[in-house]
Amino acid sequence: MGLIQDTIEIVRKRNANEPEFLQAVTEVLESIEPAITRHKKYRDGNILQRIVEPERLIQFRVPWQDDKGQFQVNRGFRIQMNSAIGPYKGGLRLHSTVCASILKFLAFEQVFKNSLTTLPMGGGKGGSDFDPKGKSDNEVMRFCQSFMNELFRHIGPDTDVPAGDIGVGGREIGYLFGQYKRLANEFTGILTGKGLNWGGSLIRPEATGYGAVYFAQEMLKTRKQAMEGKVCTVSGSGNAAQYTVEKLIQVGATVVTVSDSNGFIHDKDGINKEKLAWLMDLKNVRRGRIKEYAEQFGASYFEGKRPWGIKCDCAFPCATQNEISGEDAKTLLANGCTLVSEAANMPSEPAAIDQFLAKKILYGPGKAANAGGVATSGLEMCQNSARMPWSSYEVDRKLHDIMITIHKNVCAAATEYGAPDNYVIGANIAGFVKVADAMLDQGLV
Ligand code: NDP
Repeated sequence: MGLIQDTIEIVRKRNANEPEFLQAVTEVLESIEPAITRHKKYRDGNILQRIVEPERLIQFRVPWQDDKGQFQVNRGFRIQMNSAIGPYKGGLRLHSTVCASILKFLAFEQVFKNSLTTLPMGGGKGGSDFDPKGKSDNEVMRFCQSFMNELFRHIGPDTDVPAGDIGVGGREIGYLFGQYKRLANEFTGILTGKGLNWGGSLIRPEATGYGAVYFAQEMLKTRKQAMEGKVCTVSGSGNAAQYTVEKLIQVGATVVTVSDSNGFIHDKDGINKEKLAWLMDLKNVRRGRIKEYAEQFGASYFEGKRPWGIKCDCAFPCATQNEISGEDAKTLLANGCTLVSEAANMPSEPAAIDQFLAKKILYGPGKAANAGGVATSGLEMCQNSARMPWSSYEVDRKLHDIMITIHKNVCAAATEYGAPDNYVIGANIAGFVKVADAMLDQGLV
């Protein structure tokens, strides 16, 4: 339709050199066409042009000193994309590739994802091109403190509540929180993913991975299947990957791969609980490389490769954006893969998504499948406001219920708009409608 392509063209012109942002906008806008066609109010309200423009984009200098006393400078960002249904909410990414394009794509996706969670959260994302890999704890601390020296004036428990993402785990959240507390002189829930002794929620570390498996289980139920006995490939070996593997082991699946940015390992016997505990120590404590897993357990290691050539029933991309190419998708399908549940954000390139949809496999896009992470961040915010922690049973039950509801709402929207079984259309429309209606209700926002 003209309006959709016209809007994409405006985004292309206004955001030259931002391919990831354009990719995310194109994917969402093209798939919500049935809702735009059906509802005149969205066309009259010029909602498309409004929703693709961040409410606020903050960029700042982050100077810090390395262990040799040298001054280093990185670039910090916070994208406050949309606050129509709640305070901005979304992670901070620390990785050398971070730039406005990547953060704007993540913030845009976050808006619709947060809407799907059923909780009142707007969308945002932030981070820096600082890479914690290879840095000492002291260097990471000095960077986090300097980053928060600027960020603190833009966030707050009712304004914007960041969390972790690539390169930001418990250690980084701790340093960021400590600095916020010193600057603001208050103990409030301005970050999620906090330590359990100081306002964190049980199950938050597990939530993204567990949620991606819960979502996969719901997709399988529509075909009267279960996860038990399925052979699964997983990419990444960070937070999302580790707890995807943990939940897959718990539900009786066999996980045969994990990876990092250097390569992947193939463990034909499957990663069991003991091997996973060793992997978690390798990645979270010793901060080593995945190659060491192969040396430890006699698995195969493939340098510079991704795991999608390994035969599997189900694939769980848990590393980064655009990690499944059109060629990878062809290989996955040829090898009999019938389910892809995205714990990572936008891991499948458009050519891969086209093939998954054409072959009608169970394809759960990230904004639905990995929404358990931010949903549990929302639960952490509830506990912080009430100053009352919940048990892990309670949080996990709520997380599970939310993933079941997201799946139900996505399927209902897909069916309502004439595309049953298409989780892309269902997730994008269900997420969009709630935000767009709130924007219309609120006038000139
Ligand atoms: P982590 O930093 O904990 O782990 C990231 C993993 O992916 C690491 O194994 C890393 O390897 C690998 N990786 C990162 N970049 C690349 C790359 N360019 N090529 C190959 N491998 C790469 O991050 P998370 O697990 O938190 O995040 C992973 C994905 O999940 C991201 O897409 C994130 O946006 C998404 N996500 C995370 C949520 C969360 O709660 N943490 C919530 C929702 C989505 P290496 O260590 O070598 O860099």
